[in-house]
Amino acid sequence: MKYSELANAGVHEQPVYEPGKPIETVAQEFGLDPARIAKLASNENPFGPSPAALVAAQAALRSAHLYPDGACSKLRKAIANERGVAEDAIIVGNGSNEIIELLGHAFLRPGLEVVMGAQAFIVYKLVTKLFGATPVEVPMQAYGHNLGAMRAAVTERTRLLFVASPNNPTGVANGEDELIELAESLPGHVIFCLDEAYAEYLERAPDLRAQISAGRKVFCLRTFSKIYGLGGFRVGYGYGDPEMVQLMQRVRQPFNVSSIAQTAAAAALGDHDFVESCRRANAVGRVQLLEGLEALGFTSVGGQANFVLSNVGNGQAFFRALQEQGLIVRPLGGYGMPEHVRITIGTEAENNRLLGAARAFKESGWFAGAGRS
Ligand SMILES: *Cc1c(COP(=O)(O)O)cnc(C)c1O
Repeated sequence: MKYSELANAGVHEQPVYEPGKPIETVAQEFGLDPARIAKLASNENPFGPSPAALVAAQAALRSAHLYPDGACSKLRKAIANERGVAEDAIIVGNGSNEIIELLGHAFLRPGLEVVMGAQAFIVYKLVTKLFGATPVEVPMQAYGHNLGAMRAAVTERTRLLFVASPNNPTGVANGEDELIELAESLPGHVIFCLDEAYAEYLERAPDLRAQISAGRKVFCLRTFSKIYGLGGFRVGYGYGDPEMVQLMQRVRQPFNVSSIAQTAAAAALGDHDFVESCRRANAVGRVQLLEGLEALGFTSVGGQANFVLSNVGNGQAFFRALQEQGLIVRPLGGYGMPEHVRITIGTEAENNRLLGAARAFKESGWFAGAGRS
């Protein structure tokens, strides 16, 4: 018998996540020096990890023979202080992606529905399908989540509703008022998951803690992979009602977050200077990229996080052309946006290189064919 016949039916239908192309792969394919390649494809922090996190991680290596603290006590305490939520209202995961999967373990099964935006973070759909539940994809409104339409898509079978704000890959955020209104309008059998992966890049992030305290079924996700610069460590967390969080603690692996990652994340959380300087540099780089792309005739949307979504006519061609120059961006055909690319806001020098390569791409004539097939 073939393995494919032995696998569960869902395995064959499970869509595959396409990660940003790694630097080493592009270096090999194009015969480039990896040190000269800029990866602007996965919304990583161009300024590297928080320096405080690096020091802490190095010290933590000496205890690498010991299993981690399975409860992530110190890190949860640090998060509790930083975010002003109770320790028992917090769950730490192997990246916030793991926590999305834990939502599936705890709350999804065949027959249930999950409401999400049609151009939302793809992991919501992957996890929904993994548990045999049905994704209900709601069309976006000007590349942002249409909360009214999402509310209208809720049925008796809906168990989860995901909103990322700012959204990836579009970079558009929803306002606090409309998020609160949605939270307050949802029936008691629906858990509203607000993914705040890019919240630190906003001037002021929407705050739904009062709705959680008031008993609304709201659960928020944060990550150390973006502004804290720790994507390689795999740490994220969720916070919500303690009762819900205890259910989720039951379905995770006992040691889901490494000791080094826990230590690094706790240190990064306290590295306010680093976070602030990254936020400022990102705001400057955002203007640099948006204005530069605009001057070349490429329209961009969003940009409220650490990336911009730009219409370059043919995203795949742009992606290929830029790789030759040692720049990796993200084509979005998989998200149904074949004309767009997502570009992470880099350092000033990286943004300049990006704009130079975009100019060359435009002059090569590709953009002239934009929109035609
Ligand atoms: C990057 C990102 C995450 C973070 O994932 P991790 O697993 O914590 O690295 C979560 N949600 C969205 C929308 C993201 O773009």
